[in-house]
Amino acid sequence: MPHNRTPMADPAPVDEHLEAPPAIAFAGATLDRAAHLRDDSERLRALENPRAVLVGTGQEIAVTGAGTLALAPVADLPSDAVLTFLGLDRSGGAVFAYDAAPAELASLRSLMAELDPAEAALAAYAVGMIGWHRVHRHCGRCGHATKVEQAGHRRRCPNCGLMQFPRTDPAVTMLVQNRDQCLLSRRHGAPENRWSALAGFVEPGETPEAAVVREACEETGVPIHAVEYVTSQPWPFPAALMIGFWAFVDPERETTAPTPEPSELVEARWWDRAELADAVENDRIVLPPPGTIGNYLISTWVARG
Ligand SMILES: [Zn+2]
Repeated sequence: MPHNRTPMADPAPVDEHLEAPPAIAFAGATLDRAAHLRDDSERLRALENPRAVLVGTGQEIAVTGAGTLALAPVADLPSDAVLTFLGLDRSGGAVFAYDAAPAELASLRSLMAELDPAEAALAAYAVGMIGWHRVHRHCGRCGHATKVEQAGHRRRCPNCGLMQFPRTDPAVTMLVQNRDQCLLSRRHGAPENRWSALAGFVEPGETPEAAVVREACEETGVPIHAVEYVTSQPWPFPAALMIGFWAFVDPERETTAPTPEPSELVEARWWDRAELADAVENDRIVLPPPGTIGNYLISTWVARG
């Protein structure tokens, strides 16, 4: 079994003169979720300055001309609008999510690195909640139409009583490394020349650490000796939580040449740190977009050289 902490000495600290890796989008929430208000419709109605994040069908959000999140006054929405309570902003104003489709909006995915961190996190929360409502209109057990409860945080089946709650699906992404080399892959369907860290969903009955080991083995055949948690990212496309790890091969053993799993990967290979830095610098390859945890892991590792 792999250890859940690396047995090796910590890699060199990040050189402070190098450019810091871009911040991870959607991870900068400042909203107070105020869950105690979800069951209190009287107090919810009385909250000050109620505004709503408008979410379109393709996970779009309403933005202002200046590229900030545009919150619509609830008073401007249809009187029968079904709102999901998200929480209270820093000034105590109530924030809701509203399924505004169809409307002309901007893609959250394209905006994730540009929005203010707190706004990006709020938008991800709204997109995740609205996306969940859209696919839970009917009971998963008996098929009856479900009813919205708890200010949009629960759907109950009036026929069989099944309660459904907003979903978050854990997924892992890991930068597999061996001293001064890391393992990157090109995936089917990804932009040409984009090299990424390995990733996959956590399966039922599995820990994230075990998923790292399994995915690395399934996708490349490379055995993992130790894993170490780094950071995480809410990823509302549609409902994932990306959990980021360093994954280490056994430094005592000969390095395994990766065998890419053909249905998922076009190519997988080890990169020397200096070679990778040079390839990125000279635009010979592209990394996952800034704001993604994949970009963060790779950029951080390269900066440690
Ligand atoms: Zn039911």
